[in-house]
Amino acid sequence: MTDRYTQAVNSGVTKTLAKKLGLPRPAILRRYRAGDPLTVGPVLVVSDGASKGAADTLAQALLEWDVDVRRQPTDDVRWGAVVLVLTEAAEPTELAEPVLAAGSVLRHLAPNGRVMTVSRAPGEGDSPTLAATRHGVDGFLRSLAKELRAGATANGVVLTDGAAVEARSALAALRFFLSAKSAYVDGQLLRVGPADTAAGTDLTTDRPLEGKVAVVTGAARGIGAAIAKTLARDGATVVCVDVPAAGEGLSRTANSVGGTALQLDVTADDAGTRILAHARERHGGLDVVVHNAGIVRDKLLANMKPAQWEAVVAVNLAAQLRINDTLLAAGLDGLHIVSLASTSGIAGNKGQTNYAFTKAGVIGHTRATAALLAARGGTANAVAPGFIETDMTSSIPFATREVARRLPTLAQGGRPVDVAEAIAFLASPAATGVNGQVLRVCGQHLVGQ
Ligand code: NAD
Repeated sequence: MTDRYTQAVNSGVTKTLAKKLGLPRPAILRRYRAGDPLTVGPVLVVSDGASKGAADTLAQALLEWDVDVRRQPTDDVRWGAVVLVLTEAAEPTELAEPVLAAGSVLRHLAPNGRVMTVSRAPGEGDSPTLAATRHGVDGFLRSLAKELRAGATANGVVLTDGAAVEARSALAALRFFLSAKSAYVDGQLLRVGPADTAAGTDLTTDRPLEGKVAVVTGAARGIGAAIAKTLARDGATVVCVDVPAAGEGLSRTANSVGGTALQLDVTADDAGTRILAHARERHGGLDVVVHNAGIVRDKLLANMKPAQWEAVVAVNLAAQLRINDTLLAAGLDGLHIVSLASTSGIAGNKGQTNYAFTKAGVIGHTRATAALLAARGGTANAVAPGFIETDMTSSIPFATREVARRLPTLAQGGRPVDVAEAIAFLASPAATGVNGQVLRVCGQHLVGQ
């Protein structure tokens, strides 16, 4: 599970050697630590002419977060981030000025810096020119992300349904992307709508989930254990669920987060009822559910045994659907569901027809469930990890694993905590305007759209 290559090319003699030989050097990514500044340097906010008012509003919000905000590009600064505000741009020609201003400082972007676009989603009734301008940002951002180096990333916040730039969820998304919490999220555009329920939430708190009860399935190890720890760090009381056979790891996670353990196979018919009963009886309610339990049974379809197809569908998809039915029937207010998809479910992967079916299915049910939960102030979102260093991926043959690590723009695998940070953000009350979305945590893996 250790990426020895990344460690070697970043330390001691091997670092010097790698430099001399011109070997690719994946960066050591900056990850969140309480008390660290939001960005690694000053933030430049630029905009097209029509978006100047929106840029002023965003600059003000950043100032309130104690960020050193500048409005003019200069090359005497090691920039921590560049934010391009393009929300009111209506013609393709209007983008040249702000985009080139951002480009002029990229050589001075600090390691682990950030470039962000804030734009609007094309909508029904847009003129072709407006739709082209808005959709164009997508291709621009994804390409720019591939040009950045030294752990710097580029991501976008895309406003929908007339959301204002200062909508709570838009600011929460901006803050997540600027921060070290998004270390392994790269080249992604996240759609954010207005959400009244997010109003008034404190975006600077270290404990956005204070007082919330969260359930994490598959919490005994790997990504699930990291999710449990991250949600607890953010203030949640966590119910850790896993199969009885993983009881030891399950107790370890539950103890380490001061939560409770529930030994349960998520494929059981009554799994939803037992989860709900445990959360209510032991902790007084249920606010967040993370469907993380998942398995692989990789085989070419030509060689696939019925049991291999059926087991993967039962754990990765059917269980989530059944549990969600129970939760929806219970009519909980403000419930945030986050489900684990995978980049395999977006781009496909040889030997994973069963797994990719279930992970694409997760994306499908997430979009459909989002509308049902929104009525009660809740959300359903999915996170699609790429290659993450866990027990699941350590079983991949060495050569394939090494290729998978180097393919993303960030040229390394992610850590379980990277997935957990994205989930903690989506589970937080401030992110209520993010609903029915799929956030990829893949270091900009070369797959899918
Ligand atoms: P893992 O195998 O390390 O952990 C999965 C956990 O789920 C285990 O503790 C296991 O006991 C539990 N589990 C399995 N079946 C269960 C059941 N029926 N009931 C309850 N618990 C059950 O896997 P991981 O790498 O940590 O992956 C976690 C999730 O992330 C999975 O949904 C996986 O598909 C997804 N994912 C992982 C990667 C990656 O690179 N590791 C990439 C994309 C998506």
